[in-house]
Amino acid sequence: MRKLETLRFDNSFARLPAALYSRLSPTPLLDPYLVHFNSDAAGLIELDPKEGARPEFVGYFAGNQLLPGSEPLAMLYSGHQFGVYVPQLGDGRAILLGEVRNQSGERWELQLKGAGRTPYSRDGDGRAVLRSTIREYLCSEAMHGLGIPTTRALSIVGSDQKVFRETVETAAVLLRLAPSHVRFGSFQVFYYRRQHEDLQRLADYVIRHHFAQLAEKKEKYALFLTEVVFRTARLMAEWQAVGFAHGVMNTDNMSILGLTFDYGPFGFMEAYDPGFICNHSDHIGRYAFNRQPQIGLWNLSALAQALSPLVSKEALAEALDQYEPVFNAHYITLMARKLGLKAFQNGDAPLLIDLLGLLQTNHIDYTTFFRALGNFKQAPGEKNADLRDRFIDAVAFDAWAERYRTRLIADERRDAERKATMDRINPKYILRNYLAQIAIQKATQERDYTEIERLLTLLRHPFDEQPEQDHYAAPPPDWAKGIEVSCSS
Ligand code: AMP
Ligand code: MG
Repeated sequence: MRKLETLRFDNSFARLPAALYSRLSPTPLLDPYLVHFNSDAAGLIELDPKEGARPEFVGYFAGNQLLPGSEPLAMLYSGHQFGVYVPQLGDGRAILLGEVRNQSGERWELQLKGAGRTPYSRDGDGRAVLRSTIREYLCSEAMHGLGIPTTRALSIVGSDQKVFRETVETAAVLLRLAPSHVRFGSFQVFYYRRQHEDLQRLADYVIRHHFAQLAEKKEKYALFLTEVVFRTARLMAEWQAVGFAHGVMNTDNMSILGLTFDYGPFGFMEAYDPGFICNHSDHIGRYAFNRQPQIGLWNLSALAQALSPLVSKEALAEALDQYEPVFNAHYITLMARKLGLKAFQNGDAPLLIDLLGLLQTNHIDYTTFFRALGNFKQAPGEKNADLRDRFIDAVAFDAWAERYRTRLIADERRDAERKATMDRINPKYILRNYLAQIAIQKATQERDYTEIERLLTLLRHPFDEQPEQDHYAAPPPDWAKGIEVSCSS
């Protein structure tokens, strides 16, 4: 276990051409204090959890003192925002400190989010508000608990320093961890600027560090794109299966490693609605839940275009052609598991589609329904009242349940055995907006951070029954149905 001062930083990104980033130091945060420390994530870099309690911790992770060995920089990128190309973005408020290599040889980049203005801040103040920081902190750890690839979060440091959004809020700094923070937009910027040498240097860097198995291959750039296509397609399928929507799927928020990345507005679907839009500012629903798989491909096409100086047109098209089959195969595998089927067979699609249709017309909570479906009893004559009672149209449920029963009987699996497999894919607990909202209210109004701790502990094990915490599994109460999440963060 290491101390803060012996994290042994390296910053391989800082050895790349200076065109890729700007070196700078974080802007000190006024009178910082610890809001939360995540000992689980500390384990990734073998940081002694006791270090979170040291007074120096807050200074380091507010960006007020530099950790020995770090070489802070802001990364340059561009991207398509809501479909429109923006020639320069870049880390406007994030600062990469460097990487820490753990004993298993994994490298984790440490990035401060909300650490002050950078050359890429445009009109922004370089800060993040405590509210949005708590949301990212909780959700990235919740996604990890669900087994979905994501960036991680180590700490939140708060301050009474005022930040102006729709209202006056206070600043906070998040410490985010990821093997790499390179985005699709990191490639786009050099393509559009015709800086093809920089483009290639970046591609070589990413391949060497994160796709090392491809480094010696002749077609390495095409294979690299293919791998990103695979990972993104699988990620989209995982989001769809768990009912997660990312509110700002711009190409600058797409991780080159296929991680869930840059949590701004996001949401877990509650009552099933394929048109669910989690971002209040997304008026046309570009990033509506059911459009996300298509947007994943759209974003990959933008990445493919950016790689066109390195890869033939045919090879780019071939890589992109993999998206749909990979997405479909993974999606149906996940949905078959959610339904408790041994495998998705021809003829199962209508069973699934009709169920989703019923969930939609009956306004049924997606997560609690699938969890409860694990308790379905196959025995003839069994009414499955707990499920049935959720439906306004119980007769329609009965008809579906008969088809489901027939299908389960064909699988020849006992109820208990099926339930055990279903409980490992249908979470009991997700980060509902209202749960995050309660934690945010306690933190911002009372400086009470216990709810963050409670949620973090709960969401680390979303598939386990945690009887004392049963109320956290409930769909939103009436007061919480209107919570709106905007882009402001
Ligand atoms: P996002 O939609 O949060 O991914 O942000 C889009 C771009 O705006 C990124 O380049 C961010 O770094 C930048 N940005 C967002 N908020 C701020 C802020 N408060 N200050 C400076 N830059 C920001
Ligand atoms: Mg972003």
